[in-house]
Amino acid sequence: MDRYEPQVRRDLVDMVYDSIPFSIIVNIMAGLVVLVVYWPKSGKNAVIWYGMIVAAMLYRLGIYLYYKSHQDEMPVVRAEVLQWIGMFASAVIWVSGLWYFLGKHGIAYDFLMAFVMGGMASGSISTLSSERITAITYVLITLGGTALWLLISPRAIEVMMGVMVLIYLAFLVSSSSRIHRTIVDALVLRRENEHWIRALKAHRAEIELIFDNVPVGVFFYDKDFNIVNVNQHFVQLFGSSREKLIGFNLERLKDRRIIPAIRMPIDYNGLEDGYYEGAYHTTTSDIDVYIRIKTTALKDSKNRLVGAIGIVEDISQELEHKRQIESFAQFYIQNPNPVMQLSCYSHAILIENDAARLIHVGLEKKEPERWEGFLEKVCSGEHKSIDLRYEETVYQFDIVALDEERVNLYGRNVTKERIARERADYLAYYDELTGLPRRKLLFEHVKIAMLRAERNGTTNALLFLDLDNFKQINDSMGHDVGDYLLQQLAKRLTNLMRTGDIVARLGGDEFVILLSDIEGDAEEAAMKSEIVARKIREEVARPFAIKGRKLHFSVSIGITLFTYDRDFFDLLKEADVAMYEAKSAGKNGVRLFDSKLEKSTVRKTELMQDLHNAIERNQLTLLYQPQIEISTGKCVGAEALLRWEHPKRGLVSPGIFIPLAEESGLIHELGQWVLRRVAQESAQLPLDYIAVNVSIKEFVRSDFIEMVKTMAKKGEIDPSRIELEMTESVFIENFKETNDKLQELRRMGFRFSIDDFGTGYSSLAYLKNLSIKTLKIDRGFVEDIGINPNDEVLTRTIIDIAAHFGMKTVAEGVENETQLAFLKKFGCDLAQGYYFSKPMSIDSFMKWLGERV
Ligand code: C2E
Ligand code: CA
Ligand code: CA
Repeated sequence: MDRYEPQVRRDLVDMVYDSIPFSIIVNIMAGLVVLVVYWPKSGKNAVIWYGMIVAAMLYRLGIYLYYKSHQDEMPVVRAEVLQWIGMFASAVIWVSGLWYFLGKHGIAYDFLMAFVMGGMASGSISTLSSERITAITYVLITLGGTALWLLISPRAIEVMMGVMVLIYLAFLVSSSSRIHRTIVDALVLRRENEHWIRALKAHRAEIELIFDNVPVGVFFYDKDFNIVNVNQHFVQLFGSSREKLIGFNLERLKDRRIIPAIRMPIDYNGLEDGYYEGAYHTTTSDIDVYIRIKTTALKDSKNRLVGAIGIVEDISQELEHKRQIESFAQFYIQNPNPVMQLSCYSHAILIENDAARLIHVGLEKKEPERWEGFLEKVCSGEHKSIDLRYEETVYQFDIVALDEERVNLYGRNVTKERIARERADYLAYYDELTGLPRRKLLFEHVKIAMLRAERNGTTNALLFLDLDNFKQINDSMGHDVGDYLLQQLAKRLTNLMRTGDIVARLGGDEFVILLSDIEGDAEEAAMKSEIVARKIREEVARPFAIKGRKLHFSVSIGITLFTYDRDFFDLLKEADVAMYEAKSAGKNGVRLFDSKLEKSTVRKTELMQDLHNAIERNQLTLLYQPQIEISTGKCVGAEALLRWEHPKRGLVSPGIFIPLAEESGLIHELGQWVLRRVAQESAQLPLDYIAVNVSIKEFVRSDFIEMVKTMAKKGEIDPSRIELEMTESVFIENFKETNDKLQELRRMGFRFSIDDFGTGYSSLAYLKNLSIKTLKIDRGFVEDIGINPNDEVLTRTIIDIAAHFGMKTVAEGVENETQLAFLKKFGCDLAQGYYFSKPMSIDSFMKWLGERV
């Protein structure tokens, strides 16, 4: 009883107190019997004794009432002692009464008394056994006292009876112990029961709480598939009520998809669990859901199948989430940008999308070393992003370290950016059109050349090249042709140069060639570079085949020599100055820079400014060069050639200032001036015409016709005495418009000739429809008569075809007898050149004419 001792002791005390009223009644009644029996004999003493009994009972009634009202706060021990006192007192009263009454009225009375005592004792055992000490005390006093009296009595029968009472006493004591134990056991059991019942109740409530509150639907069903129980969640899930669901037979479900899962644990006797995941249409509430069901068998303690338990989850949200993740994964997989995760421990790719796999697998197979190098670079932790080229594509991978091991790589196609960057780098150093180095790179090479010159004691040369008639071609034939020409020229120059020499393009038709490490002193170096310059000139002079035609070019070259410790831009300037000098000295020239030159040479910009004032300041004059009819030797006409008398520079060649005038737009004014001056000066000359050069720039202007018309109207010019000389390129740009212009000019009385014929398109086919009467065979061809058979053939061909179309031919630059003889032989009509006369001032020309007649 250890565990329950306090409660059981209390229970025992309760029991004793509960027996008090009955015990009081028994005492009062039994005492009354004794009083009635002994009163007649003992009188007053019997009443006193009964009074003591009643007093003891009053005491017991008192403690009984007190106990009942103060039960809870009264300590158990106190209650025990109080009631023991009551019992002890009543036992003593009874025994003392017995000793007083026995032997006084004969044996029958004695036996009655002993009988009453025995009854009292046995009654006390049944009611007092709960309080063992009280019971034993009571029995010992009452029966012990009785037995003692009987045993010491003189009568044998009474001694016998005393023995009997002793045996009875022993029996009562032992049964009292047994009864007490039984009572205690019963009480402990009761307490235990109460405890377990309470615990079970709590447990059950707990389980029910859990059962109803688990976030999944739970249902039990028996072997016949009848639902036995469901939890609250299950009810909510299927939107029904518990009452309707319990007892429902699952085989009656409308949506059969979950039936196999329900049947599985029953059909296989618990060996298999059931499972279903997917769409489901509920039977009771008629709704569509996505569920996951797991079922498993339920068995009793003897391992007999009793049914099954099922767990249902609503996975609609989960499914939606899964779908989102899947679509996101798809999004990631299909991303054309490569994305991967790398382990820096093993260099293994942990995750990658399709785009990344392509690169990774491809590179690993084809260029494993480069791939490994890339991974190492990534894992070095020194870079935030790294470029990786795969086939024609360049990817920039941004690196994000996740932890010590893993690294995420986010790739992006940067091919275009990289190409642009490379291109920008390239373009800073190389010319896009020709692929030649540009000024910047040339600068680097010049620096290196200086270092080498210092170390080896050698000399370097910078050659500045400028095409003489490039502008004309570019303006008339279009930039495509111009570009193509420059590309061809670049090729020729590169092929011509030694390795180590640098050909660079500064822009336009300006090329610079660096000759480095030239052995010998300055004089020797000058000679050598002039030889190179001459070679260049020869190379450039070979006709260029463009659009099925042959174009002729010449080049002016300025050379400057240097060793080391020189400023690059100074060198360029020097070479440029020398080039201008070469150009003004006449086309096709080569000039070595002389420091004296620099000061006397007027820079291009200065010249341009000066040209603006040239007309006003009366610095322009005209020279006339006669044109001789070969068959008769008669001077029939003259070409007017413009001269500029520069106050500081002296005579400036039209080869220099005409292009400047064209560039600045001043050419229009110049042209007008020339026409006016020609008309003034040559009116009295006994000639058929005066040839006047017209620049393309001038001619193509829309107001050109208007200008000459007004001049003619004002009588400033006489068109019938003027021959307009234009290069053939004028017809290429816009044939129709040019032709219309020509027709109009022809109607006004002008004549036309094609200047420098043979250097441009050299196509006679389109000239036949034009009202052009004269072709001027370029000086370049005439120059080579007697030297270059090829040019002779060309010259003859031009003369033949011109004759065929009814045109006259004028040979330019005739300088000797041989040339004249050749021209005469093949039927050239007119000749012009130093052989007859250099261009002359009008006065000299008139004098010259006078002398000839
Ligand atoms: P162009 O029309 O071909 O003129 C012929 C050039 O050859 C002239 O040079 C002339 O002095 C030169 N010349 C004549 N005979 C011979 C010869 O036997 N041997 C050599 N070596 N040269 C000879 P110039 O006067 O320096 O004129 C150069 C160019 O300037 C002209 O070439 C012409 O295109 C342009 N030009 C001259 N005057 C004018 C003008 O008033 N207006 C325009 N627009 N251009 C002009
Ligand atoms: Ca001319
Ligand atoms: Ca000419």
